Amino acid sequence: MDTRYSRQILFTPIGQDGQSRLGKSRVAIVGMGALGTVLANHMVRSGIGYVRLIDRDFVEPSNLQRQMLYDENDATAHLPKAIAAYEKLKMINSEVEIEPVIADVIPANADALLHDVDLILDGTDNFQIRFLINDVAVKHSIPWVYGGAVAAKGMFAAIIPHKTPCLRCLFPNPPAAGGETCDTTGVIGPVIHIVASYQAAEGLKILLQDEKHRNPNLEHFEIWRNLHTQMKISAGKNPKCPACGRGKYEFLSYTGEEDSVAAMCGRNSVQITPVKDTQLDLDQLAGRFSPLGKVERNKFLLRFQTGDHTLVVFPNGRVVVQGTDDPAVARTLYARYIGT
Ligand SMILES: [Zn+2]
Repeated sequence: MDTRYSRQILFTPIGQDGQSRLGKSRVAIVGMGALGTVLANHMVRSGIGYVRLIDRDFVEPSNLQRQMLYDENDATAHLPKAIAAYEKLKMINSEVEIEPVIADVIPANADALLHDVDLILDGTDNFQIRFLINDVAVKHSIPWVYGGAVAAKGMFAAIIPHKTPCLRCLFPNPPAAGGETCDTTGVIGPVIHIVASYQAAEGLKILLQDEKHRNPNLEHFEIWRNLHTQMKISAGKNPKCPACGRGKYEFLSYTGEEDSVAAMCGRNSVQITPVKDTQLDLDQLAGRFSPLGKVERNKFLLRFQTGDHTLVVFPNGRVVVQGTDDPAVARTLYARYIGT
C-alpha cells in the first residue's frame, strides 16, 4: 500500500475507497491569497486528482505574514501567485495534476474556468466574484464552499446547489463597498488557517458524499474574543431566488461595455481589465518603457516604475497600477503608457 495517504486511509470516514475517490476528484480554487494557499495545501496533500489554481495577482512582501505557500524569493521575483503556488505544491505532491491559471474570474471566463470540476473552493476576498462563483455553481450543480476572514473573525458555509440555500438566498446582493474590509482592519494568520481548514474539511466531505456529516450551518467565529455562533441556514432556501429559484444567472450573464477599473482591497492599487482581451508584446513594451523609468520583467508580467507609480502589465492587457487608489489616476496612466 502507498504510505503517503496511510493516516488518511486509517481515518474511517475516508478509508481506501474514499482515498481512491479523492484521487479521481477535480477541484478549482478561486484566489490564491491567504485562504487559497491553505486550501490548496490541504487539497494537494490529501491527494485530490486534479487541482486548478486561479489567481490574478503576484506575490508581494505584505503577503508573507499569512499566505503560507510563498517565500521572499517569490516576492522578489514578482511571481504570479498561481505560478509560485504551483511550483511549491508540485514539490509537495507530484501525483496531483495541478493547473495554474493567471486570471481574474470575470463573467466572460467564469463558466470556462469553473464548469468542469466537482467542487469549487472560495479563496477570494471579494463578493462580486463570490456571486459569480455562485451563478456558475448553481447553473452546473457544482457544490462550493464559501469562506471569509477579516481581523480575527471568520465565516464559512457549504453550498450544495438545489439542496441548501445558495449564496443569493442568503445575501440577495453583494454587500455595498465600504464595510469592514482588509483595507482598514487587517487580518491575523491563525483565523485564515481555521476558516480555510474548515472549508477544506467540508470540501472533503462533499467529495466523499458524506451527506450525514456535512455542516448545515453558516458558521461564524471571532478567535480573539473567543466567540462562536452557528446560524442554521438549512431552511433559508428562497423559492424566488434569481439563481437557484428561477435559473437567472445575473452575475454570469453581465456583459460590461466598459473596461473594468477597480481599486484593490488594502493595496493602494487599481486594477484595469480591458473589456476585450488584447495581446500585448511585453518585450516590445519593455523596450519602449526602459528610457522612461525602471523596468523589470519575468516570464509572466512586466513592471514599469515611473515617478510614484508602478504599472504591472500582463500579456492580456490587464494592468495593476500601484501607488494610487484613485481610478481616474490609474486610467490616465493606462492611457498614457498602454493605450486606449
Ligand atoms: Zn438561491
